[in-house]
Amino acid sequence: MSEEIEILDDAARCLFAQGTVLERLWTGGKWVEGPVWRPSENDLLWSDIPNNRMMRWLPGDGVSVWRSPSHFSNGNTLDREGRLVTCEHGSRSLTRTEPDGTRTTLIARYQGKRLNSPNDVIVKSDGTIWFTDPPYGILSNYEGHEADSELGSNYVFRFDPRTVELEIVAKDFVKPNGLAFSPDEKNLFISDTGKSHDPEGPHHIRVFDVQGSRYLANGRVFAIVEPGLADGFRVDVNGLIFTSAGDGVHIYAPDGILIAKIRVPEVVSNCCFGGQSGNRLFIAGTTSLYTIELSTVGADWPA
Ligand code: MG
Repeated sequence: MSEEIEILDDAARCLFAQGTVLERLWTGGKWVEGPVWRPSENDLLWSDIPNNRMMRWLPGDGVSVWRSPSHFSNGNTLDREGRLVTCEHGSRSLTRTEPDGTRTTLIARYQGKRLNSPNDVIVKSDGTIWFTDPPYGILSNYEGHEADSELGSNYVFRFDPRTVELEIVAKDFVKPNGLAFSPDEKNLFISDTGKSHDPEGPHHIRVFDVQGSRYLANGRVFAIVEPGLADGFRVDVNGLIFTSAGDGVHIYAPDGILIAKIRVPEVVSNCCFGGQSGNRLFIAGTTSLYTIELSTVGADWPA
């Protein structure tokens, strides 16, 4: 097993192909985040937030700038029709990129007030879009444009693009950040990265029961991530959580036990599954993009 892989529970051994190693695909960013694999394009997109650009990796063709300015984009995902949905700090909105490349604003305000700076986003099988709205993009001009919060709080939202209805699904987070559904969508995981600006603040992932199509109940701490923060994470087909941390990617079993770590030489912000067979983990780590081949695929594969 490669030295970057730290097995803490035997159950994790089968996740790693024989001889697999962590590879650095690219470096040169300032703070990269929000990776997403697009099966239709066979490419990977991600955000380089302070450089106000989005990058693209096309296997065999290398890395290029995909969108600049990117309106300080952060988290990305695909909707059920394969269209890119992006969180933008700069426009303080959620946008969708249509197949012809046109950028459409999905939502920018809640009850007339501007959002803070949408951070990370997922799409449920019913097409609704769930996202977090901490203030990282308005605290300074580094990752967006400095401004006061109009909402005065940091919510988790559910947006229905058919009815254009936006509602709050969680309001008791210091700084809600990454989020992901369990494979059966009966649970929703949401991280709180309040420690980023308060040494006593939370640095954990919480899990909720999803009731009906929209209600969250029974919120409890799923895992405390140490060192670092669960800035972003993904779930594999078996319900394992692959989360960012200060020393790499931490892998948690569905019961919250830490079973393995993939050590990365830079602080990790987020990761995603992808590649032609869906079994590559792409890891956004501070200035660089890394990848490692696994023996599992993401919960939503094939997309
Ligand atoms: Mg994030």
